[in-house]
Order: sequence, then structure tokens, then C-alpha cells
Amino acid sequence: MKEYHILSLSGGKDSTALAFFMKENMPEIFENTELVFCDTECELPETYDYLNKIEVFLGKKITRIKPEKSFEHLMTIYGYLPSVHQRWCTVEMKTKVFRKYVYDLFQKNWEGVVNMYIGIRADEEERTLSSKNNDSIIKAIYPFVENQQRRKDIENILEKFGIGYPDYYKWRKRSGCYFCMYQSKNDWLNLYENHKDLFFKAMEYEKKVENTERKSRFGWNCDMALEDMIKPENMQKIRNDYKNLVEKKAQKLLKEKKDKNFFGILDIDSFE
Ligand code: SF4
Repeated sequence: MKEYHILSLSGGKDSTALAFFMKENMPEIFENTELVFCDTECELPETYDYLNKIEVFLGKKITRIKPEKSFEHLMTIYGYLPSVHQRWCTVEMKTKVFRKYVYDLFQKNWEGVVNMYIGIRADEEERTLSSKNNDSIIKAIYPFVENQQRRKDIENILEKFGIGYPDYYKWRKRSGCYFCMYQSKNDWLNLYENHKDLFFKAMEYEKKVENTERKSRFGWNCDMALEDMIKPENMQKIRNDYKNLVEKKAQKLLKEKKDKNFFGILDIDSFE
């Protein structure tokens, strides 16, 4: 059976590291692998810069595929913003677009299977369950899981090949659309500080849906409208809450590490 290879790039660190990992460890497959990026056209400028950099570092072109309808157009069809429970953005701007791209290959009388390489790491293996599909022509492959590559290994790959992290990592933790509803309130404020124009664009979308027939507030963030987030008193509170959360997490991690060492000593003492 013929095989076609596609690596799905997200513009984030893991899928990028996967491209370099494949180039080094699976050179023959990589040679025949098409790098594909689903461009929602709502990505951060840093993501587009990073993609250009990847092309230069890998010496390979990235195929950028786009939805037929823009986000604005889709929003008028749906009449509400996407949310964690109604993730129409992913379906319309990524999944359907990717599927169409693959199915179009088959319409050109191409036979066989499409191996789709995904950058899920060994330390997040449970994510492979939700990313699996029962498609007869697309087969998901997880080289990092198969080769036990964890977070630290991914950092090492990016460092070794000199590509580093995308610039948005300095102020945001995830790739994706600038208005992604998965970002924290602190990240929203970071967007406000780094790309005011995009923050206000997202705010406009919120206002647009507020004026539709659904009178209840249905914004990007379930706690607070973007307009309220940038009021000085709220900004201060969001920053403080975030700082406290980070400190708490750091203390918890430190405690877990100490406990682990403590029980590690106990284990040795008891059984040696
Ligand atoms: S990055 Fe966020 S907003 Fe964009 S498609 Fe994915 S879930 Fe939707």
C-alpha cells in the first residue's frame, strides 16, 4: 500500500521539535514528509515569524492551508463566539480544512494511507486518546511517544538545532489563535501589552455577539469581559492572583520534590 507522510505543524514548540527529530532520526521518511500548517489567519505575528524560521532551518517549505470562510464570516453563521464547550473554531478552521486537503489528494486518484505525524510527547500520552480518529485513510503516528521523548528532550532538540522557542513564549504559554479562549486572564493582559490591536479586535468580537439575539454575556473568558479586564483595578487584581498562583504552584512542586526525596530515603533504608 502506498504511504503519504504529513507532519502537522501547529506553530508551537512540540510539533516543531518533531520536525527536527524526524529529520535526524527518520531521514528517509522526513525527506518524503510534507509539513502542513493549518493557518486560521488569526495566528499571532510571532507564529508566522517562527514558521518562516522553521522553513529556513529545515530547508523545507511548509504548506499553509486556510479555511474557505474567514473567522468573521463563520461568526456571523454561528452567531456566537467559540468556547471550550462549543469549539466550532477548531472544527471549521482546522479539522475540516485538513481533512479536505487530505481528501483532495485522494480525488487525484491517489491510493493508500496518509501517515500523520503528531508531536504529542511521552509525558502527555493520554492526549493520544482524544487525538485518535477512526479514519480509514489517515493514520496517526506519535514518534515522541514511541521513542519516549519527554518535555526536557523536546527542549534539548530545539536548543541543539538552534531554532529555540517561538517568541510568543516570552509572554504566552500556548500556540494558536490570538483570541484563544484557553488562555488565562493573565495571558489576555499579556496580549493587551504585546499586541493591543489584536486585543481590541477580540474585544470587538465580544461586543458583536453581545448585540445579537442572545442577550446574555458570552465572551472569550467566562469570568470577565475583555473590556473589564483592562480596567486598572481589575488588571492589578489579575496580575496579583496570577503571581499568587505561580508562588503556590512553586511551593507545591518544592514540597513534592522534598517528599519524594524523603520517601526515596525511606525506601532505601527499609529495603536495603
Ligand atoms: S487555537 Fe483556540 S481559538 Fe484557535 S482554533 Fe484552536 S481552540 Fe479555537
